[in-house]
Amino acid sequence: MWVYLNGEILDSSEAKISPLDRAFTFGEGVYEVIPSYNKKLFLFSEHLSRLKSSLEKSFIPFPQELTNLEEVIYQLHDMNGFLNQSFYIQVTRGVQEFRSHQADPVIDPTIFISSQNLEINPYRLNPDRVGLRARLEEDIRWSRCDIKTTGLFGNVLSLHDPSKERVDEIIFHKDGIINEGSRSNIFFVKEKKVYTPSLEQNILPGVTRAFIIKLLKENDISIFEESIPIDFINESDEIWLTSSTKEIQPVDYINERELPKKNTESQIWKRILRLFD
Ligand code: PMP
Repeated sequence: MWVYLNGEILDSSEAKISPLDRAFTFGEGVYEVIPSYNKKLFLFSEHLSRLKSSLEKSFIPFPQELTNLEEVIYQLHDMNGFLNQSFYIQVTRGVQEFRSHQADPVIDPTIFISSQNLEINPYRLNPDRVGLRARLEEDIRWSRCDIKTTGLFGNVLSLHDPSKERVDEIIFHKDGIINEGSRSNIFFVKEKKVYTPSLEQNILPGVTRAFIIKLLKENDISIFEESIPIDFINESDEIWLTSSTKEIQPVDYINERELPKKNTESQIWKRILRLFD
């Protein structure tokens, strides 16, 4: 597999990063995941804007090298060969010899880009397959989830707990309000209206979330961005998760309980997935 590290394209086995990188010592890095379909990047400029925003909010300067990011990604695309890929772009604060909480202002960010084969959303191939299994949990993450940080310990911690059921996703709530998944945004449908948590909450402004909101509006489907209480789960007709690699996927089980079966013919998520296609 070919990767990009600080200006060079290398075989992944040749790519070396110092353990003194502040991503290793302080967990200081941000990232993006950009999908491609049929060798074309999808929503590239939206992902680039969010990367810029994550960097700015983290006080990491935008690296000049990233001005030709699209070109570099297409070069990797050709070299890694898969028709559909997901590109991981990681930018850290950089390597600092002398350990200090205070960052040295002259260090250069580390830039690492890798890619892998993008699995086709299985619900695109078969919308009637069983939905995802999710678990509800108190949101223990930090309060800057608007920054897409590589520091994902709070997102993944409970996935490692051997005493818990293996699930496809954790759904986080705080003070009785739903936030998002550990790696996805969440949507609910109730009486033909769509609801998703507001960006004023502690969530990532998902690129797929924004794209789907646009699709809903263009198709005259009511969409409300507002705070959603946990009880909404029992009252809703559909629950879906969205992300750049998942696209749209339905949830069928929460906390090992199957959600009541609704009229599967007229489900809104299926219509949106067709539009997405
Ligand atoms: N929330 C979290 C916590 C995520 O990790 C992701 C996936 N990166 C998303 C939402 C969805 O974001 P996007 O649609 O931009 O992939």
